Amino acid sequence: MTSTVPPRTTREWQAADAAHFLHPFTDFQSLAKKGSRIITKADNIYLTDSDGHRILDAMSGLWCVNVGYGQQALIDAATRQLKELPFYNAFFQTATPPAIELAELLSEVTPPQFSRVFFSGSGSEGNDTVVRMVRRYWDILGHPQRSVIISRNNAYHGSTMAGASLGGMSGMHAQGGLPIPGIEHIEQPYWFANGGDLGRDEFGRVAAGWLEQKILAVGPDKVAAFIGEPVQGAGGVIVPPDTYWPEIQRICDKYGVLLVSDEVICGFGRTGHWFGCERFGTRPDLMTFAKGVTSGYVPLGGVMVGDRIAKVLIEQGGEFEHGYTYSGHPVSCAVALANIRLIQELKLVERVRDDTGPYLAQVYTQLADHPLVAEAQTCGLMGALLLARRDAKGGRARPFAPEVGIGMVCRGHCFANGLIMRAVGDRMIIAPPLVMTRAQIDEMAALIRRCLDLTL
Ligand code: PLP
Repeated sequence: MTSTVPPRTTREWQAADAAHFLHPFTDFQSLAKKGSRIITKADNIYLTDSDGHRILDAMSGLWCVNVGYGQQALIDAATRQLKELPFYNAFFQTATPPAIELAELLSEVTPPQFSRVFFSGSGSEGNDTVVRMVRRYWDILGHPQRSVIISRNNAYHGSTMAGASLGGMSGMHAQGGLPIPGIEHIEQPYWFANGGDLGRDEFGRVAAGWLEQKILAVGPDKVAAFIGEPVQGAGGVIVPPDTYWPEIQRICDKYGVLLVSDEVICGFGRTGHWFGCERFGTRPDLMTFAKGVTSGYVPLGGVMVGDRIAKVLIEQGGEFEHGYTYSGHPVSCAVALANIRLIQELKLVERVRDDTGPYLAQVYTQLADHPLVAEAQTCGLMGALLLARRDAKGGRARPFAPEVGIGMVCRGHCFANGLIMRAVGDRMIIAPPLVMTRAQIDEMAALIRRCLDLTL
């Protein structure tokens, strides 16, 4: 097959990039100085850059390429649908077969309380939908004052006004007049930062208790919903103690607060379960998804709407004045169908749960011996290494000063050594494609160890 990339040198690409392309979440000046790395091709779990270097993509692009690159079934599904019907919308009482079939299949693979879906184009739009939908739900029921949504510091729920407001990223809140009114935040269940002297299980219960305190402070009759990622992804792959989510569920039930699980990262097998809420034992009322639903081949997101909410919206609500041009885009839905069927056919969820997930956990236990690593955590095929100064006497590790930029130093070595790992402060994180084999986990671990050695 001939390449679709016109022949330009890396420098030429970089010059055009710097002249015209404003990248997301990027310091424009520093990018212009360094130049982007231009990715031209990919196959399985490997990328190729414009200089021909092979790179192991331990981040699945941006947490999304669950089935790996180059899957013919997805390419064929997109091609067929582009020829048959490239676009039609779902507004004004029309629908297309792929959107209907995908809605059906989603209700099969999601937990039993979900038989309906509202499609969006991305995870951020999905979370905007959540904000409008939970407020609409309480409105219809005659409780318009129930409009406050509680979220967590260091959460990531997207970059639209509502998504970024739900998120708890202080840098984002500092720009553009965020958060929007009616969003409250509590502290995250990050034991290393907030656990003090508590054991992990005890800390999980204490951290969940912060939700109850916030509900009482706001007033239970004003709280519409609580939203959280089962494992905080962009915040640094923060895996909560197992005691956390069941206690959150109990508190939501106690006060009639809707529980929203943001499954944009944790959905579609990432945790070794179809959805993260199944791994952590919650029964959410709403579930946001995106990324892994199409393995990132084309954009698609949405919200699974629990039957309790759908019933009120449908039977009592009249028109829900909300939607996107690309809600249920037929090409995206056709690719999502092929993607979910491939996940089923390859038994990727079971593979992560029973084989590669436990194997990654074992490999990470070994990496935890590295002198630079204070904590190694995994959940399914996600992992985090906390880089800190070990205490020689076996006491608690001490964080590096932020000026050291330890994560970015390590990330630089990864970049130079053919590995994409992401740095979130002092946490080095991974979320590789779910097709990754044990041998590829070994290959990745050897690269990680080399980069940690170089960072020392
Ligand atoms: N929610 C979570 C948990 C995410 O990780 C992300 C993106 O990383 C989003 C929402 C936003 O999704 P998108 O970038 O598709 O808008």
